[in-house]
Amino acid sequence: MKFKSIRFRLILWYVLILGIIILIADFFLYNSFKKSLIDSIDNTLYMLAEEVEHTILKVSANTWRREIKNVRDEFLTSRFFIQVLEIKKGKEIQRIIPSEVLAGSVYPESKKDILLTLRETPEYLDLANKSLSIHPIRVILFPVEKEHVITYIIQVGTPLTKTYQALEGLSIILLIAGPFMLILSSLGGFLILGRAINPVKSVVQAARQITTEDLAHRIDSKGREDEIGELIQTFNQMISRLQSSVERIKEFSSDVSHELKTPLTIIRGEVEVALRKEREKDQYKEALLSVHEEAKRLENIIDNLLFLSHIDFQETQFTFEKTPFYEVLINELQKIQQLGEKKNLKFIVKEIEALYINGDSQLLKRLITNLIDNAIKYTPPGGEIEISLHKHNHRALLEIRDTGIGIPKDLLPFIFDRFFRVDKSRVDENRGSGLGLSIVKRIAELHGAKIKVDSQPNRGTRVSVFFPLYTLP
Ligand code: ADP
Repeated sequence: MKFKSIRFRLILWYVLILGIIILIADFFLYNSFKKSLIDSIDNTLYMLAEEVEHTILKVSANTWRREIKNVRDEFLTSRFFIQVLEIKKGKEIQRIIPSEVLAGSVYPESKKDILLTLRETPEYLDLANKSLSIHPIRVILFPVEKEHVITYIIQVGTPLTKTYQALEGLSIILLIAGPFMLILSSLGGFLILGRAINPVKSVVQAARQITTEDLAHRIDSKGREDEIGELIQTFNQMISRLQSSVERIKEFSSDVSHELKTPLTIIRGEVEVALRKEREKDQYKEALLSVHEEAKRLENIIDNLLFLSHIDFQETQFTFEKTPFYEVLINELQKIQQLGEKKNLKFIVKEIEALYINGDSQLLKRLITNLIDNAIKYTPPGGEIEISLHKHNHRALLEIRDTGIGIPKDLLPFIFDRFFRVDKSRVDENRGSGLGLSIVKRIAELHGAKIKVDSQPNRGTRVSVFFPLYTLP
């Protein structure tokens, strides 16, 4: 057993606490037993003393002296000792019926004063008489009043041998029973804890088998509904999440290599063809232009990937603050409009309301450019692009509508996936990287915005982004 294990530590605590409880219980048991034994002895002593008092008060001095002597002799056999003291003139004490054994139980000198002001209540004391018994002798000091003056003190005593023997017996029982109970219940606790902790061991073992290569492994909770079952379920869920993100990472890295490889293959091809034989100046220029185009694409992919990883890992600190969304939109429109005009596209700015949202203007710029870029890219010359920003159901609604090629309905759910392109075979300069909309989606998420895309092939596409309006914090 490992000393640092929960099982060992719990058992240690259990034994410690149980040990303390047993000790406290033993202490109370022993003392209450002792008290009840002494109480019953005190009771007997009291009754005897009372009997003697009756005799003293009832009959003449000579008679009671004789009677008490007889009683004393009777009691001597049953180990009771009687002694009667007389208090002369209120302070001198004289043993009128002496007892050898109780000789020492005369009030100590200092108690004489107390004696003179003694209450009616009797007192008890333990007297040591080693020659008679190793155990003390219990004695009652019983004052007898005559005409409101304490005149006699009756002393009745008995050795506590039996009491102490009984107490010793009890001590032995407790001394054996205590550790016995402790060992037995610790053993029980050890077994029960073992049963409770064994499933944790199987979780540990299963967890050891799980590697990034083999994330398919799951732990069987065997229908348990307790804390361990919950732990196993949570663990399995965690592995499932891990599995899907590892799969996504694998997929993503293979996509990245594929996407980077295409422009590189094109560059290599162009260069190889150009170098195969002497070419005209124009042909070299064409090849270089193509290489330049692909290099730009590579740069664009890498730039987008870096941006996505910045957003994902929050490496850049974004400043979310009250932003005039309409201003950001107007600024971007001015920049992009020229691009569209080059392609003979008609820009219609339907309505721009002065709305504020809680956002980061750099991110918002990127979202707007990516969406308008797509509208330009996928709308043939002569088409229309309509832009509007207005309030809709307490939200700032940014709408970008184009009359472009549209997106097939069955592919709509995938357009936000990284590297997804409807037309993968496309190789012209409009061929995108498939990252633009994933960036838009992440930016929208960061702003708490929702995106809706309606599209009809050959009719056009409408992208609507619903941003929460700025509210005072
Ligand atoms: P890309 O860089 O390829 O444009 P995006 O992530 O921006 O990547 O878009 C993913 C795909 O969704 C595009 O390849 C395109 O097929 C389709 N798409 C996006 N916007 C539009 C649009 N306005 N009209 C038609 N198709 C679009």
